[in-house]
Amino acid sequence: MSPALRVGGLLPLTTLDYPGQLACVLFCQGCAWRCRYCHNPGLICARGEQETPWAEVLAFLQRRQGLLEAVVFSGGEATLQAGLPAAMQQVRALGFKVGLHSAGIKPAALKRVLPLCDWVGFDVKALEEDTALITGVADSGRANWQSLELLLASGVDYECRTSVHWQLSDCRRLQRLAERLAGIGVQHFVVQQVRSQSMLDAGLGPSLCPPAAAALWPYLEQLFPRFSLRSA
Ligand code: SF4
Repeated sequence: MSPALRVGGLLPLTTLDYPGQLACVLFCQGCAWRCRYCHNPGLICARGEQETPWAEVLAFLQRRQGLLEAVVFSGGEATLQAGLPAAMQQVRALGFKVGLHSAGIKPAALKRVLPLCDWVGFDVKALEEDTALITGVADSGRANWQSLELLLASGVDYECRTSVHWQLSDCRRLQRLAERLAGIGVQHFVVQQVRSQSMLDAGLGPSLCPPAAAALWPYLEQLFPRFSLRSA
């Protein structure tokens, strides 16, 4: 029997985290990367200070049957937990759609759960060669991009998104990233400007969008069938 999923937080209702669905979000505990702009640093440790027992999560979901449409497994990095496939199966058996937020930290772990997902919000950190500057982990770029290719090959509905902190990126890099994504067939790309209020790296200052970005957004719009820009 797989270990119970470790859930560090629960958002009972959202319309933003799974497009078009009334969903709740389970913030799964633990992550192997250390993105400087991470706005959920309390979820990085494998064990959280305030975990919700899985039995309580299931009881909550049973009370929401017929009211919520989907459950999103977010993080941290949910795919690192051995208990994720069983948890997804239980959620699906209750009649909910299954959403996943992932950066594909371990491609094999993402591949294992893709057949259980209805939708994935996939975080592409940066160009493969630049990813370690964001995550602090060597070879993270290879894992991130291998996982993206697995997702695209799976046929599972998705949104591919990149969080931008303007001290860690610039318009030229973002344009090259977008062109590479379009080149491998990404159909739906979202740029999210990082929330700078609570970040793992307290030394990272506010993220100030450069004036040149105004010319970049129309270019990205014509590069993808679906493109959107989200503010912090
Ligand atoms: S932003 Fe980075 S460090 Fe934070 S949970 Fe996501 S992958 Fe992990």
